Amino acid sequence: MRRPYIAGNWKMNLTPSEGAEYAKKLGEAVKNAGVDCRVMIAPSFVSLPAVSEAVKGTGITVAAQNMANHLSGAYTGEVSPEMLKDIGINDVILGHSERRQYYGETDEIINSKVLLAISLKMEVVLCVGETLEEREEGKLEEILERQLRVGLKDVLPEEMPRITIAYEPVWAIGTGRTATPEDADAAHKFIRETVASIYSEDIANNLIIQYGGSVKPGNIRALMEKENIDGALVGGASLKLEDFLPIITYSK
Ligand code: PEP
Repeated sequence: MRRPYIAGNWKMNLTPSEGAEYAKKLGEAVKNAGVDCRVMIAPSFVSLPAVSEAVKGTGITVAAQNMANHLSGAYTGEVSPEMLKDIGINDVILGHSERRQYYGETDEIINSKVLLAISLKMEVVLCVGETLEEREEGKLEEILERQLRVGLKDVLPEEMPRITIAYEPVWAIGTGRTATPEDADAAHKFIRETVASIYSEDIANNLIIQYGGSVKPGNIRALMEKENIDGALVGGASLKLEDFLPIITYSK
């Protein structure tokens, strides 16, 4: 049985005080609603302490949106996973398409981050997804397979329960264009099959696969009804209580 997992990626939005204020309201609302899915929010690095404090006792996980692929050293501007662990952060989003697109993160770099996070017993949401051009060229499966095989290289089978995959078609992120539930489910099915071929049916069946790309209160239910969709990674609609709460409580 896969527990639904809804995550909010705040990207470079909300200051620490704005984030803490919103997180406090969200935490109270989630607690009152008695939701049964796992809920995560990923504020910017500087907001992590204030937001963690604000959601204490609510069951909401607070994650980082990225981390360095080194433990410490001369890497100006980077944040190491040890620093995250030291402030109580145990979850991290890796390989987001904006990191790939704007900051040149390759599958190999992302893999080194995944391995470092896993070695520190952190939980990872690993993002994969094709661009519009790649989809139109019929390369969807090739791209997903490469991102998964390289991104998960040397991750051991027993470490896989700490990995969540987020399928985020790049053309659907922040564009208002959502993949149809059928298209998303087909991509998720392919991801599950690929993970089964790398690891085992059992590991693939237990793998949580989130969909991301313009998820809104109006489309979450149809997406979550699909067999292979186990959750959502939400960008824009995670920034306001009136949008994010109905997504979290989609089953109510
Ligand atoms: C994201 O940033 O992971 C995302 C899916 O963004 P949006 O929901 O705004 O498309």
